[in-house]
Amino acid sequence: MRILIKNGTVATASELFKSDVLIEGEKIALLGADLVSKVGEVDRTIEASGKFVIPGGIDPHTHLDMPFGGTKSADDFETGTRAAAFGGTTCVVDFAIQPAGGALRAGLDEWHRKAEGKACTDYGFHMIVREAGKETLAEMDLLVKEGVPSFKLFTAYPGVFMVDDATLLRALQRSAGNGSLICLHAENGPAIDVLVAEAVANGHTAPKWHALTRPPRLEGEATHRAIVLAEQAGAPIYIVHLTCKEALTALREARGRGVPAMAETCPQYLFLSQENYEEPNFEGAKYVMSPPLRPKGHDEALWQGLRFGDLELVSTDHCPFNFKGDKDLGKSSFAKIPNGAPGIEPRMSLMWDGGVRAGRIDVNRFVEITSTAAAKIFGMFPAKGTIAVGSDADLVVFDPEKEIRWSAKTHHMRVDYNPYENRVTRGAPAQVFSRGNLIVDGEKWLGKAGAGKFVRRGSRQGK
Ligand SMILES: [Zn+2]
Repeated sequence: MRILIKNGTVATASELFKSDVLIEGEKIALLGADLVSKVGEVDRTIEASGKFVIPGGIDPHTHLDMPFGGTKSADDFETGTRAAAFGGTTCVVDFAIQPAGGALRAGLDEWHRKAEGKACTDYGFHMIVREAGKETLAEMDLLVKEGVPSFKLFTAYPGVFMVDDATLLRALQRSAGNGSLICLHAENGPAIDVLVAEAVANGHTAPKWHALTRPPRLEGEATHRAIVLAEQAGAPIYIVHLTCKEALTALREARGRGVPAMAETCPQYLFLSQENYEEPNFEGAKYVMSPPLRPKGHDEALWQGLRFGDLELVSTDHCPFNFKGDKDLGKSSFAKIPNGAPGIEPRMSLMWDGGVRAGRIDVNRFVEITSTAAAKIFGMFPAKGTIAVGSDADLVVFDPEKEIRWSAKTHHMRVDYNPYENRVTRGAPAQVFSRGNLIVDGEKWLGKAGAGKFVRRGSRQGK
């Protein structure tokens, strides 16, 4: 199959130029002006004048088909990657979970089973580590060789995912040796548990108390502590979903003294705020996620972090729970509301609209924070994350004028609410290709469950 995308403007993290793009099979075969006259017969031509041709988005933080406190996230690998594709994202890295008391291997095998035959786009896995005994540390080395070179640990959720400082340090030391990357959920879990117990004892059970019991300073403290442990281990560290000024300050200080500390943020921390928890009729529960939404002001600090390069990229932490049936498990207390929210589909449009159109970032930086940086940090570049001869033809023809009014009625995520209900964004995919296959054409779905392949990731590049 040969497909020619003609008359578009190709945008990568570093370049912006008028060019046709020839796809042959699964790869990008040729770039250049006026290829129509040079390449002979093609099977299909896509007209892209007035549009950008960008690398497919990469979302390195998703939780598909994930169990949580008696329920599970509402999107599986089929519905989640399809919704991602409609939004312009053609690769996700999801979090496999080490079972309590079990081996990393068992968790990884389980996630392979969840994804195989279902994923519509390519996918990779990080591995969540709950303890770091001798056997687990040895398993980490094996997983790196199998294309899973990143691990996630938590300083939050005591009794569930939280590890102590000794465990975190051991995992960081191991990662320094085997070339992998430790990703960290940074909040001070034990301190948060004290505040939650206090709030509940005082009858404060509404959703907003989720935010009030997880204040920014407890994220800042955990971010600082984890980075210091990484510095001690001589390892890089990647802070997931950084949300606040306190954590950003800790990150900047560390980078200033030369520590390879990296971080992502997510659209919800840029476009929503703590005020959303005040929505009536328990609707504040829709925004219960950890870390929580922050008071206004933190959002602009995060935009600056993206603009000046202290924040590497924007992922979603997509972890949808239905408002009816899941979120209402916490009607009696915010502490029982499943943590997580949907976001896999609107990410690219939100970042274009609030970033590029609003003048906060340019087109190249948009490509970098939605695709290229994730490909480099998580070992997929240049097969993914850029537009170059020989790269995978994961491509989006992006229409900067296309408007979407976001709504649970029309989105493709399998969840009964949208955190951005009624928000209008301008800038959306017109066509989406996954390894050369046209999978989204306007409103039409042309993809297939099971067409996505596991991406064996290599080592980190760049910073
Ligand atoms: Zn997460």
